[in-house]
Formats: sequence, C-alpha cells, structure tokens
Amino acid sequence: MKTVPLFIDGQFVPSRSEQFIDVTNPADNSVIAKVPCATQGEMEAAVESAKQAFLEWKETPVSQRARVMLRYQQLLKDHHDEIATILAGETGKTFEDAKGDVWRGIEVVEHAANIASLMMGETVENVARGIDCYSLTQPLGVCAGITPFNFPAMIPLWMFPLAIACGNTFILKPSEQDPLTPTRLVELFVEAGAPKGVLQVIHGGKDQVDFLLDHPSVKALSFVGSVPVGQYIYRRGTENMKRVQAFAGAKNHMVVMPDANKQQVINNIVGASVGAAGQRCMAISVVVLVGEAQQWAADIQQELAKVRPGLWNDPDAAYGPLISPKARERVLALIQAGKDEGATCLLDGSGFTLKGFETGNWVGPTLFGDVTADMRIYKEEIFGPVLCLTNADSLDDAIALVNANPYGNGTSIFTACGAAARKYQHEIEVGQVGINVPIPVPLPFFSFTGWKGSFYGDQHAYGKQAVRFYTETKTVTARWFNEDIPSGPNMTIHLK
Ligand code: NAD
Repeated sequence: MKTVPLFIDGQFVPSRSEQFIDVTNPADNSVIAKVPCATQGEMEAAVESAKQAFLEWKETPVSQRARVMLRYQQLLKDHHDEIATILAGETGKTFEDAKGDVWRGIEVVEHAANIASLMMGETVENVARGIDCYSLTQPLGVCAGITPFNFPAMIPLWMFPLAIACGNTFILKPSEQDPLTPTRLVELFVEAGAPKGVLQVIHGGKDQVDFLLDHPSVKALSFVGSVPVGQYIYRRGTENMKRVQAFAGAKNHMVVMPDANKQQVINNIVGASVGAAGQRCMAISVVVLVGEAQQWAADIQQELAKVRPGLWNDPDAAYGPLISPKARERVLALIQAGKDEGATCLLDGSGFTLKGFETGNWVGPTLFGDVTADMRIYKEEIFGPVLCLTNADSLDDAIALVNANPYGNGTSIFTACGAAARKYQHEIEVGQVGINVPIPVPLPFFSFTGWKGSFYGDQHAYGKQAVRFYTETKTVTARWFNEDIPSGPNMTIHLK
C-alpha cells in the first residue's frame, strides 16, 4: 500500500504519525493509498525550514524566481497527461476533465512567470522639491494554503506558485481525499529547480490546519473549501492577526431569457450543471427560466436524461462518481428533501449505479422543476449532479432572486439582448458573471472574484490581487540633498 510522504526541508519523508487516512478510488471505494496526519514535530520542522529558506529566497533576484516558474510550467506541460491520470484515479473525474484541472493550474504558473511585471511598484517624481516617492513590493514570509478535494491540481497551483514567485516560502496542506496529485506537482516543482525549503507539504485534517492557523510564523493563509470551514478559518486566522483569504461554497444561477438560442442554452446547461458530477464551485446549480423560457423544462429534461456517468477512462462517460460515500449520502438526502418539500422531480438519478462498480459513489443526473427559494435544495449547496429549475416572470424578478441568495461566486445570463445582459452585469451582486458563458472562471491575469458568502477576505486568488495578498507595500519618500535646495528646520508636516 502506497503511503503518501510529507515534504519537509527539501525531502520527501515518511511520516512518523500513527494516524493515517485512506485515499480511495471513488469508482469502487477501494483503498489506493494512505495519507498521514503530520505530527506536531513534523509540522514544526516544516515551519522552521520555511522560515530559514525565506531568508535566502527573498534575496533571490526576481528574474531568477521567475525562471523557476518558467521551467515548472514546461515540466507541468510535459507531464500533463501523466498528472491527469493520477488525478482521475483519485477523484474519478473523466480524463478530459482531469486534463482541464491540470491545464487551468498551468495557466496560473504561466502568470507567475511574469512576476517581475506584477511586482512593480509606483513612482511619482517631485512630490515636493527634490523629493521622489516610490513604492516597493516585498514578500511577507511563510505563507500557507489549505485546499479542497475538487481541483487537486488547479487549486494548489492557484496558491504556491504565486506566493513563492513573490519571494515567500509556502506550506501546503492539501485535501486528505486526493493528496497524490499535489504530491506529483511538488515533485515536479523540485525538478524545476525550486530551492530547498521554499515549499513544504504537510498532510492531515483539522488538527494540521489548526496548527497553521495558530502558528505565529505563518503570516498569511489561503483557503478554498466549504462554507463552515471557510468561516472557521477566516475567524480563527484573523483572530490570530494573520492575513486570510477564504474561498467557500456557492449556489450559482443561470438566468435564461426567452430570446436566447434554446439549443445553445440547453447544451450549456448540461455541461455546466452535471459536469464533474456537479462538484465544481462554479457549477450551475439553479437555472432561472424567465417568462416563455419556462416552456423549455421538458427539453432540458430530455437532454440531461441522455447523460451517462462512467469510469474516468471511458471516453463516453460524461462525468464520474462523487468523491466519497459521505458526499453521496449528503446528495441523496438532499434529493429526498427536494421530493419531500414538493419540488417536481423531473429526472431522478438517486438509484443510478455503474455495472461492475456498484460499491462506487454514483449518482445519476437529477433534475427538479418548480423549485422555490424556501426549499433545502435551493438554499443548500448540493455539490452533486443535481439541477434545480426555478421560474421568474421578468428579468427584474430574476435579478432580485439571485441578489437575495447569500452566495455570490458565479452567475450567467443567456440572452440575445445586449441591454438585458448589460443590466444583469451591472445590477447582479455576484463576483463573476458570464454573458452567454455558463461558467465564467476568469483567466489568471484577472482574479477569481467570488463575493458575499462565497468569499471571506478582500484580495482574491491569482491575478494582481494575489500579488497584493502575498506581499506588503513599502512606500519610500527620498531626498538627495544638493546645494540648490534650502535647508533649515521645517516645523510643519508639509514637504517643502
Ligand atoms: P472542506 O471544507 O471539507 O475541506 C477543505 C480543506 O479544509 C481540506 O484541506 C480539509 O482537510 C480542511 N478541513 C476540513 N474540515 C476542517 C475543519 N473542521 N477545520 C479545519 N480544516 C478543515 O471542502 P471540500 O469538501 O474538500 O471541498 C468542497 C467545497 O469547496 C465546496 O463547498 C466547494 O464549493 C468549495 N470550493 C470553493 C471554491 C471557490 O473558489 N469558492 C473552489 C473549489 C471548491
């Protein structure tokens, strides 16, 4: 049985822990590896090594730091399919979707290779006679990242490449449910020439996260995961005076106007709702049918009914199993709640299983109509292949519904009308908006900007905002005396 190593002080080391968690293949729940819960001593060693490495790494020229990212980007590309295979094996994602997970991470590494431009400060000459003012961007020290199961390549890559390119050192605590992919990412980072100690990996669950939240040498913490854990991490981290960015759960609405192209709408709904078994924080989980578009429910049902889950290496499979039996139980309980609360179950995937893999965490595509805002299936994040249809009389009503929702990760509008799209983009209280694009995840030169209950903090992931999150600004006001400038005491606060 493979045991996942820790990565401390530049070495992959077996943990001395007596506590291990099973890593499973979600298609049949067979155990494929064991991941340790790092001990106190091992975590202390990781922080100590990261602190020491910071002293040298922050002095390493920015172009040298960028070159590590350039080499890393190439290695990730060279090993793209191999990483995707590991990823598919522990998440159950289809191979194509697993490749997308890796690719969206590679794009962030490409962005991190531009770090010199991203770290540029500002300068104003002659803020007073002979005085210039300029800002410097400096790293914070040891930063940490806690990542979820659903994107084991992309989300770690949202974090450590940018933090490290900024001159920080980094401790990653990946999801205990799929640690094999991040382990491979780290091996390649070492191969890319990352110096000893700039990156450390500890494994485990709550106790290991609490260690990072409480350790005084950890200056900033990035988290992606569920709402309760995100709120907990934000509260405890900021209570300990750390910088925290916490990306949490979502309920993403697609508003469908009756002037939209019906077939395009339906194609987009299918992929965006049940793709990756609905385990995407930007998945469409609610479709708001406006006016005449309400008549499209039957066509949506027909198209979703064609979707077949399957094994990661089956090219005809649309999506794979859920990550764990616990996740499946939660989704099945919510499907039952939808039925009990009076939503119309137009398609029921709760009985689905894959022949020969009956012990896996399968749920078939599921569709509810006539969903109202007071139902649990509307209020709670399902994180499964379950789509809710709800109705609105007008665009104003649709906007009011979306704005009343506590989450604000992503949303989209499908319409042929520029004015409706412009109104939606302007009035909607959601951080990422798609116009005829169902899952509007920004590319890394922008930032990933969830709002409201989907994000706690102020600076978001990647883009320029991540650089601000992982750095401190220092502003210098400088005068070099020469004979022309009168000296003598200045008794005011004006620069003269
Ligand atoms: P999770 O919150 O269960 O786990 C995330 C991380 O937190 C893991 O590393 C886990 O070990 C750790 N953790 C779990 N319980 C903890 C506790 N009590 N105290 C401290 N740490 C704890 O999330 P998950 O199930 O792995 O991921 C799915 C969730 O992530 C969904 O809610 C999804 O919407 C969200 N997500 C959000 C985004 C975003 O950008 N907003 C992106 C991806 C996923």
